[in-house]
Amino acid sequence: MAKGTEGLIRAYDRRVRDVTSVIPSSPGSSTACGKVGDGNLTAFYCPESRSIHISDKTLQAVGSTYGPEGVAVMVAHEYAHARQHAVQGFTRNVIWSSVIDEVQADCVAGVYMKTATPMPISDKMVETAASFLENIGDYLPLEKDWHGTPQMRKTAFLHGYREGALSSCVASDDTNINKVIQKSSDALQNQFDNPQSELNRLLRWGNNVLNN
Ligand SMILES: [Zn+2]
Repeated sequence: MAKGTEGLIRAYDRRVRDVTSVIPSSPGSSTACGKVGDGNLTAFYCPESRSIHISDKTLQAVGSTYGPEGVAVMVAHEYAHARQHAVQGFTRNVIWSSVIDEVQADCVAGVYMKTATPMPISDKMVETAASFLENIGDYLPLEKDWHGTPQMRKTAFLHGYREGALSSCVASDDTNINKVIQKSSDALQNQFDNPQSELNRLLRWGNNVLNN
């Protein structure tokens, strides 16, 4: 399943075709980003070596709980990080938190699942994929590696899936966060201030944070 998803994403997105895939990775094996962990949720993109690592144990754990949709969305999320790296860099290097990178990766994963998949995906499958992200969301807004609340993660994924366009995640070649920042800091501020902006449609900061 993981390999099939990778093939589809690579065919769809030329910006990630150079990524080295190490799926499955053995727990304890070395990477440019440290050793592969031994947990049930060991999946990461390593910018230093432009490689994706998902452990065997993780593939099995996610597969047995969420089925192929869970594995697919996990793989798609890591490829989304590879796309961010190629197109715009990581906002976690600019602001205090990784949350924009993470929520945006969920959105891009939604786009991948909608547009890179040649066959229609049933509502049930979309719901299962979304519930995987929802269940691994967390409530750690003060932590630097916050991944977003369950609601934020699910909302972002479904937003990307519904829109089916990388621009709707502010992650396309023409419309991405780096371009917004480059245009001017005012443009970035406007994106944050305007509830209808793509960035806010993606993040839904206030709503989700206050509701939790
Ligand atoms: Zn991530």
